[in-house]
Amino acid sequence: MSNPSILILAGDGIGPEVMAQVTRIIDWYGNKRDLTFDVSTDLVGGAAYDAHGVPLHDDTMARAMEVDAVLLGAVGGPKYDDLDFSVKPERGLLRLRKEMDLFSNLRPAQCFDALADFSSLKKDIVAGLDIMIVRELTSGVYFGEPRGIFNEGNERVGINTQRYTESEIERVARSAFDLAMARGKKLCSMEKANVMESGVLWREVVTRVHADYPEVELSHMYADNGAMQLVRAPNQFDVIVTDNLFGDILSDVAAMLTGSLGMLPSASLGAPMDNGRPRAMYEPVHGSAPDITGQAKANPIACILSFAMALRYSFDQGAEADRLEAAIETVLADGLRTADLLGEDGVTPVSTSEMGDAILAALDASL
Ligand code: NAD
Repeated sequence: MSNPSILILAGDGIGPEVMAQVTRIIDWYGNKRDLTFDVSTDLVGGAAYDAHGVPLHDDTMARAMEVDAVLLGAVGGPKYDDLDFSVKPERGLLRLRKEMDLFSNLRPAQCFDALADFSSLKKDIVAGLDIMIVRELTSGVYFGEPRGIFNEGNERVGINTQRYTESEIERVARSAFDLAMARGKKLCSMEKANVMESGVLWREVVTRVHADYPEVELSHMYADNGAMQLVRAPNQFDVIVTDNLFGDILSDVAAMLTGSLGMLPSASLGAPMDNGRPRAMYEPVHGSAPDITGQAKANPIACILSFAMALRYSFDQGAEADRLEAAIETVLADGLRTADLLGEDGVTPVSTSEMGDAILAALDASL
């Protein structure tokens, strides 16, 4: 059987810096765990624009459709701010999401013990936090028609349309139930069925899909209450599933419970391919961080945790994902910090590659 394939699109700014550490970890799995990936690299974002005049070349798009997983760094930067909207770096990312039809966006919010002080909430509220928000990514109010700014009488009206078909709700619900089965078997669905018909349909479809997952404990919550509960008692949740708009907001709220942007991974999954694996792209939540680019200050952990998600969700290597996450936990518990994770305690920060060195050493020690 051929090796699983990965396309690395490191992108712009700190993207290549953090991705260099992921590449070392991928090599480690090949050398030490007999888990070899066929890795290829290509350009996206501003780097692709510089080379080809477009933020994603058609050939790159075609390769992304062929591989088992795409790992993306970050795109964008001040150099590209004045480009026409149609060729801005972010368009490359949006094209990947759209053409790969990545409808299920997984955003974990996990609090590493060593970083609990970083949360804006009290330590005892976030300690041990490990929740997963599943956001529908390809439909809803960001895509619904009609949309636009129209004239109406003697003033203008701005219109966006919240629209969900049953099949769109069903496929993201299934992906959330599957996740819940692999985790704590608890799923909370959030919408506003009290005031929105799309929410009524959402609740109905999620409830119907539940019949196929009787082991999962399902609850429903209005999204506004969900936001309150996330900051009041986040540990009550395991998996949350919600629509595109509410998911955009709730996943940012949940992510910030855990501290730094440099720590947050994500996965975007689509329908299964012929080999049964979901079409998938993994990327850190952060951007290209132009303010620290080229200074060896970037925290590579978000990108490395994104690769851990790839191990778990694309490559069926949950135990190896656990190993990688445990190595990160160890390094943090040992007190290693990149500059973004510094508190008031006078610790000297490590560089991006020193953080990579330490994680590799912790991986070695795990054998
Ligand atoms: P950003 O995430 O790049 O940076 C925000 C702040 O967090 C900065 O101070 C940065 O130094 C810090 N930061 C981010 N990641 C870090 C890391 N791994 N380690 C240490 N510090 C880190 O957001 P921004 O400044 O609003 O945007 C910069 C550029 O990135 C823009 O062009 C924006 O469009 C783009 N962007 C891209 C993505 C993406 O590729 N998915 C996401 C967000 C923003």
